[in-house]
Amino acid sequence: MGNMTDTGQKQHVVVVGAGYAGMTAALRVSRRHRVTLVDPKECFAERIRLHERAAGRAGTPIALRELVAGRDITPVTAKAASIDPDTRTVRLDNGATLTYDRLVYALGSSTDTTRVPGITEHAYTLEQARELSDRLAHGTGTVTIVGGGTTGIELAAELAESAGATWRVRLVTGSKPGGGLSAAGRAYVCSSLEGLGVRLHPHTRVRAVHGGGLSTDRGELASDVVVWAAAFTVPSLAAEAGLRVDERGRALVDGAMRSLSHPDVFVVGDAARVTVPGAGELRMACATAMPTGAHAAESIEALSRGREPRPLRFRYLAQCISLGRRDGIIQPVRTDDSAHRLVITGRPAARINEWINRYTLNSLHAERRRPGTYRWAKPLLPS
Ligand SMILES: Cc1cc2nc3c(=O)[nH]c(=O)nc-3n(C[C@H](O)[C@H](O)[C@H](O)COP(=O)(O)OP(=O)(O)OC[C@H]3O[C@@H](n4cnc5c(N)ncnc54)[C@H](O)[C@@H]3O)c2cc1C
Repeated sequence: MGNMTDTGQKQHVVVVGAGYAGMTAALRVSRRHRVTLVDPKECFAERIRLHERAAGRAGTPIALRELVAGRDITPVTAKAASIDPDTRTVRLDNGATLTYDRLVYALGSSTDTTRVPGITEHAYTLEQARELSDRLAHGTGTVTIVGGGTTGIELAAELAESAGATWRVRLVTGSKPGGGLSAAGRAYVCSSLEGLGVRLHPHTRVRAVHGGGLSTDRGELASDVVVWAAAFTVPSLAAEAGLRVDERGRALVDGAMRSLSHPDVFVVGDAARVTVPGAGELRMACATAMPTGAHAAESIEALSRGREPRPLRFRYLAQCISLGRRDGIIQPVRTDDSAHRLVITGRPAARINEWINRYTLNSLHAERRRPGTYRWAKPLLPS
């Protein structure tokens, strides 16, 4: 384990999870190696647009086959059921077993439905964006969103803008919406949401979700529809495989994205706990997923040529939140990801957000045509 002879020859790289991180890794690593890409979905899940989908603005899905066309990548429509790093095998839920030289683990994250009782039975999550959209299209009443992070804010704004005539939209948050923003940024988010008609319930702790709405530490909140968007969790496969993980189940990796316990396994995107000198612990974000995916591919390539991989160099430039289709906020950040005082808001921010969303997908197309094309921001000075 971890002492593979580096011959410079084509290796078999199995990538589990074809989200932003896994897809970027697969495309880039296909420059020199043979790839098998495993995901239960046949189409690419553009997760950063799920709030738009919930509001009934569904884009055209892109088949994974189309996104990898012309590369030495074999997509397999299945779920990874278990991983055995000792025999370098992945067992799939269709009964098949794949053997790898290197594994890229990119299973992402999903809404944590275990925080309080009743979420699974009585609340929608953004993984059910289509069902939520159907429900909102056929009815009227109050829809309550729980969660004051980016996801909850974006969803509340989107629903208020698209369905505000038929649905009263509420946002319930444990503290104030927009925790990571500057004071000016938080104030802008609150006034924008209120301008769209969203009723804010800050500093409210939800104790349970039930058929009639929410029980909170401030009393009952009746609601026809509840959407839980408060926290994310990662699949347990990494921990079950014996990889070293943190208290949230994210695999611990080094600067090359190698598992600290199993160096043949590279973990990228939301499933990894990545710490970069100067930038600290990276966020669960598409802005993290693509660079870590590309960097894992570079590391695999370096190792296969007998070279030591370089540590990831990375920095965030901004935090971007959409507030419906006509408004948004771009919060520039310092190298350590702390918020600057200045913010960009309104239509210019909405346009920049849309441009970034398109850029992510365009980058995958560009990476397919010419692996190595995708670039990300790095600190000016090496840390
Ligand atoms: C509404 C919303 C808006 C967002 N907006 C932004 C934004 O503006 N900017 C930003 O940076 N981030 C944003 N994010 C966060 C971003 O979407 C995630 O951080 C990002 O998707 C993580 O990428 P990933 O590749 O690690 O995982 P994912 O995109 O979650 O992909 C994981 C893949 O693994 C597959 N998978 C899961 N289990 C298995 C299995 N057992 N076997 C095989 N495959 C499996 C899934 O089907 C999926 O395709 C947003 C998130 C949401 C929900």
